[in-house]
Amino acid sequence: MSENKPTILPRDQHCISRNQIDPDTLKVLYRLQRHGYKAYLVGGSVRDLLLGRQPKDFDIGTDATPNQVRKLFRNSFLVGRRFRLAHIRFAGNKIIEVATFRRQPEMGELPDDVDEHFHFVQNVFGTPGEDAARRDFTINALFYNIADFSVLDYLGGIQDLKDKRLNVIGDPLIRFVEDPVRMLRAVEFAARLDFTIEENIYTAIAEHKELLTTAAPARVREEIMELFRHKISGPVLKHCRELGMLPHLLAGYPGTEESIALMQKIDHRTAAGIPIEESFAIAALYLRLFMDSCPPSAKTNISQALLQANEIIIPHCRYFSIASGIRHQARELLIGCFRLARGRGLRAEKRFLQHPLTPKALELFALWSQVRPDLTPLAENWSKAIQGSTAKNKPAQPPRKRRRKNHPRKKSV
Ligand code: ATP
Ligand code: MG
Repeated sequence: MSENKPTILPRDQHCISRNQIDPDTLKVLYRLQRHGYKAYLVGGSVRDLLLGRQPKDFDIGTDATPNQVRKLFRNSFLVGRRFRLAHIRFAGNKIIEVATFRRQPEMGELPDDVDEHFHFVQNVFGTPGEDAARRDFTINALFYNIADFSVLDYLGGIQDLKDKRLNVIGDPLIRFVEDPVRMLRAVEFAARLDFTIEENIYTAIAEHKELLTTAAPARVREEIMELFRHKISGPVLKHCRELGMLPHLLAGYPGTEESIALMQKIDHRTAAGIPIEESFAIAALYLRLFMDSCPPSAKTNISQALLQANEIIIPHCRYFSIASGIRHQARELLIGCFRLARGRGLRAEKRFLQHPLTPKALELFALWSQVRPDLTPLAENWSKAIQGSTAKNKPAQPPRKRRRKNHPRKKSV
């Protein structure tokens, strides 16, 4: 294997400068190094810095064991069942994750109760080269060495960054069986970075897409929310549909043109700085399906709509173990859109207009009306009505003190 001989890019051959690295992360790197350990910035942060992007978080790799890390940092604690990681706590609830280099275990080393696919989280320490090789894509396997500010490339990630190309480490046919979530991550990173996907990845997705149903739902749920947070839910879900992944990823989600167009509007909303809530994302995913199964008309009443909304939302929330609060909100947003689409007058919907979730339902409805122009006048009317109703319901001003009339106070005797 190539793990022992990385290509080394000295400081003057790459663009990463220390002042782009979070100061607390630098402190941790330096402290590890001062105590004789290897201390690397790893994973997504190196990739993003080399691309001139702001990393979401800074992770650290080291050859110190978790216990050695814990002893070195008073503000640290160990987490993780199978693989122990050190979390170092800083002001403002900031956590910096330090992981000991690890390798992919051989089949014989796996305990019996291991998840069917998720092999790569085993607690087997390894060399930096082995640690790079267990990662998913070449561009995610680059290291920044604090000892001499060089970048270490064991697997050709630098060239792939230059070529804007996504390459799986090793054979995608094998790596996707090990962990099917990597198929979704491939489509996700290509969209995030605007990279092309290597042909062998497409072949492996075509071969193994069904395995997505065997991935741990919690991990699929997390990656799906990442799509929304990174404002790429529209293009990624579209690509997943073209690749035949959708039914194995989100069983009930139809992924029609209109629904994908709505996801794009949701991405624009997030790009404008409005944080995405999971309930909003779920309601958006299933809005069209819900409206088709329960056409908003004067004949349909709310209890029928509730039944339909439950039928659509509950299987999704059960599969992904989504908390009842989020499920409830998602359902309320669908019902809200139903009421808005039904378009009964202000008087009939008076109580609905005062509901705290109504403005959010209107937001979703307004986004939907952008892909369904026939709904635009309705969305505009409601928007005015809701603004009016919230103005009317503003908390009453405290009563002004009445001025005393000019009756002289009786003198107490
Ligand atoms: P970002 O945090 O910006 O979304 P990232 O690359 O840091 O991107 P994470 O999900 O935080 O992605 O994972 C951190 C690193 O762990 C990745 O860069 C990759 O090296 C490795 N990794 C994550 N998921 C997998 C996986 N399913 N298989 C192999 N390696 C993985
Ligand atoms: Mg990360």
